[in-house]
Amino acid sequence: MYHCYCTLCQKQGGTVSNAATIVYSDKFKWMSGESKIKKWRKDTGFSSHFCCECGSPVPNVFKSKFVWVPIGLMENVNPIVKANVWLSSRPDWATPLELERNYDSAPEEVEEFVQFLNSGHNA
Ligand SMILES: [Zn+2]
Repeated sequence: MYHCYCTLCQKQGGTVSNAATIVYSDKFKWMSGESKIKKWRKDTGFSSHFCCECGSPVPNVFKSKFVWVPIGLMENVNPIVKANVWLSSRPDWATPLELERNYDSAPEEVEEFVQFLNSGHNA
């Protein structure tokens, strides 16, 4: 997983960063509740999908082959925290974890970043 400190994630979550991961869309499947999703999209392509019943941000597809997954929704997971993203937007009062990779903005090579996030496993 990674932490994103971009201002859009800050506003979406009402906090300093989003904790998320990205998986290939062929590895993701909705089991239920998909009809309750509302969508909001900016001209830049940033989109926020959320549950119209509870307001939680929910996974959404981007660049057609990836799915962004907010980690806080998941139960019984023990993800490896691998990267900080958009550190240039981090407020001074927030101290980031020391992680393997640290990006001032978004990773340029999304596919390589997704492969990095999905490599390695916790025991
Ligand atoms: Zn972000």
